[in-house]
Amino acid sequence: MTPKDTSTSPDLSLKKSSPSHQELHAHLTGSLSDATVLKLLRAKQAEGGAKLPQSAEVTIQRGHKRTLEECFEVFRILHCLTDNLSAIKTITRDVIQEFVADNVHYLELRTTPKSIDGVMTKNQYIDTVLEAMIDEMKMNNITVRLLVSIDRSRGLDDAWDTLQLAKQYAAHDQFKSLICGIDVSGNPRAGNLGDYIPVLQEAKQCGLNLSVHLAEVPNEKETLELLKTGLIDRIGHGTFIHPDTGGSQELSQLVKSQAIPLELCLSSNIKSGTVKSAEDHHFSFWRKDEHPVVICTDDKGVFSTTLSEEYKICAETFHLKKADLRELCLAAVELTFLSQEEKERLRLSVHTELDELTRLES
Ligand code: 5GP
Repeated sequence: MTPKDTSTSPDLSLKKSSPSHQELHAHLTGSLSDATVLKLLRAKQAEGGAKLPQSAEVTIQRGHKRTLEECFEVFRILHCLTDNLSAIKTITRDVIQEFVADNVHYLELRTTPKSIDGVMTKNQYIDTVLEAMIDEMKMNNITVRLLVSIDRSRGLDDAWDTLQLAKQYAAHDQFKSLICGIDVSGNPRAGNLGDYIPVLQEAKQCGLNLSVHLAEVPNEKETLELLKTGLIDRIGHGTFIHPDTGGSQELSQLVKSQAIPLELCLSSNIKSGTVKSAEDHHFSFWRKDEHPVVICTDDKGVFSTTLSEEYKICAETFHLKKADLRELCLAAVELTFLSQEEKERLRLSVHTELDELTRLES
């Protein structure tokens, strides 16, 4: 691994001239910065027992690309570094601090609970993530919520297990307000999402919000089957849904008729090769159709980006004006998985901030 040894702690300088953002699609392990990876490597080396690959680049710099399969190999390597509770605590805290430094005021993190015999249980994994979230919220101006991820490459038994866990925490006195739903992710070429529909039905019946990675790669049959369930609250990526980007009228009609928002991650799609360039990104087609979209990072570490960088790329590519960006910011608030009351509070604070920025500029 060759992360840059720039700093061992995140840059906390706030960008006050631009509005704060809401991040709704961030995988915990994929969000690790070089500084955090270095910290974890040093901890492993200090233990003296690390069985780590000798060389691997964790982040993908601007202009560089990997295949989707190679990206999943990077996750596998990162999981070797995050195989204990101390590392889980470190990464959760670092990732939240880095989003704070990028002026993110609301963050929905997602992660798949993992267990390692004799080291950690899935309950301990989630406890550790939630406790780190609480600690960081006490110290920073950020609200953090958790989506519990089902990894489609782990099979149905693991998915039921994950759902049980999410239900348990969603009913937990101390933690229930922090759990905002279920994410379905993992290698889009592994398994068939249709098999997971009963899990999603039960999740929905239990009041959990559902964000599903859909049509990241072309798969009309699977996408259609999932969209027809009417269960999905937000779509991750949705690259091959719009007829202008390799989808079909039927798929896009289903998304539009149910008004399912899309979580769009430009750098991730470009660097993992599912979208050719920023200009080709499906953002422009959905925006033209006035469909709800939110700009997200996906894996800010692996794809070497930040949320402000994603907004910048979007603005430069699609010639968005300040007003368009602020409109996107406000729209993001509506797409959060917050309760109506919490959403109202966030809406008010974003409005106040935008009014203040406008006043300062005039
Ligand atoms: P973790 O759940 O370990 O915190 O975050 C890494 C995991 O998130 C990966 O192993 C993978 O399951 C999921 N993930 C991260 N980025 C992507 C993506 O772009 N597409 C899909 N389908 N899954 C992803």
